[in-house]
Amino acid sequence: MSITINSKLPAVGTTIFTVIGELANRHQAINLGQGFPDFSAPQALLERVDHHIRQGHNQYAPMAGVARLREAIAAKIEQSYGRPVSADREVTVTPGATVALYCAITACVRPGDEVIVFDPAYDSYEPAIELSGGRAVHLPLLPPAFAVDWQRVKDAITPRTRMIILNSPHNPTGATLLAEDLATLAELVRDTDILLLSDEVYEHLVYDGVTHQSLLQHDELAARAFVVFSFGKTYHVTGWKTGYCIAPAALTAELRKVHQYVTFVAVTPIQLALADFMQSCPQHHQQLAAFYQRKRDLFCEQMAGSRFHFSPAKGTFFQLMDYSEISDQEDLAMAEWLTREQGVAAIPVSVFYEEPPAARYVRFCFAKEDETLIRAAELLCRI
Ligand code: PMP
Ligand code: GLN
Repeated sequence: MSITINSKLPAVGTTIFTVIGELANRHQAINLGQGFPDFSAPQALLERVDHHIRQGHNQYAPMAGVARLREAIAAKIEQSYGRPVSADREVTVTPGATVALYCAITACVRPGDEVIVFDPAYDSYEPAIELSGGRAVHLPLLPPAFAVDWQRVKDAITPRTRMIILNSPHNPTGATLLAEDLATLAELVRDTDILLLSDEVYEHLVYDGVTHQSLLQHDELAARAFVVFSFGKTYHVTGWKTGYCIAPAALTAELRKVHQYVTFVAVTPIQLALADFMQSCPQHHQQLAAFYQRKRDLFCEQMAGSRFHFSPAKGTFFQLMDYSEISDQEDLAMAEWLTREQGVAAIPVSVFYEEPPAARYVRFCFAKEDETLIRAAELLCRI
């Protein structure tokens, strides 16, 4: 007899990043799909990991994270966003932002709760909501600006609304929230018990003089928010899966109740190395916006002669491109075709929607060596 299982996530398959990544490998396509750099992290950071492993720092870290790292994070938060946070009670290091998001959702969402998400939404939010018995309420971000329609948010709020999930700079559109957005959000949630989960993993990747608006800069919002960051994006080490969550002490206490049983801790030598590097190279993140803006501009310049249409991303290391002049096939088929036949892997955007719009977009990652971007653009310009 074979066992049958009643799936708790019947609509979920393998993530698009794995699907396209495997296809790219099989066809040896240039992989501008999944978001990861093809260049190295700073040597000094790599050396510190080696150092700590050899020094024998290979056992469990403290549950909330290595103290030195939490202190370095608290100092960076104060410097970047002007908010003093307690390293002991408000900072938790997690194995990637993904785990922080999962723990925050699981700690707060109960059966029957509604959670507002904005489509296109990063794909890890909804499964976590569903596993907690909650329901994602999807609101669209409309092209070309992909801004939040706050009237729709207001209309969508009900007594069951438990949480609103924000993501700025936004994957996959590159859109960024403005100070006015945060002010409007504050008005909407005032006098409610709605919690906020703010995914700010691309905090330093903002371009053209725009500054990142963190919920941590806003007293009223920060008082009810879990704010999530990733070392993977900031230090070019996505494979290290190390991130952190900043939240008021009462929220952090609940998050840690889940974190301690989901994973207990993040990896020790990686945390120690990051703490060292944050101390020895505090300016690292200040150069990131210029570094990635140059890559964005290079990719966009190289793509100017193509039949793709786009406006340069305002943030993140992703560039959306409208392919409607080239093809009217659906974006999954288009992404597969680009990967298989044209030698450049891309991510279809419809997978991040409950109800995909008619627009035809694929997402390219420009966190790549210049030569990779130039070669990819050459191939894409031939189409
Ligand atoms: N949120 C967004 C919007 C992302 O793009 C990613 C991508 N990796 C994550 C969260 C997860 O970050 P991490 O790899 O640190 O888990
Ligand atoms: N965040 C990365 C992206 O959007 C992928 C992470 C993953 O593979 N889950 O490409």
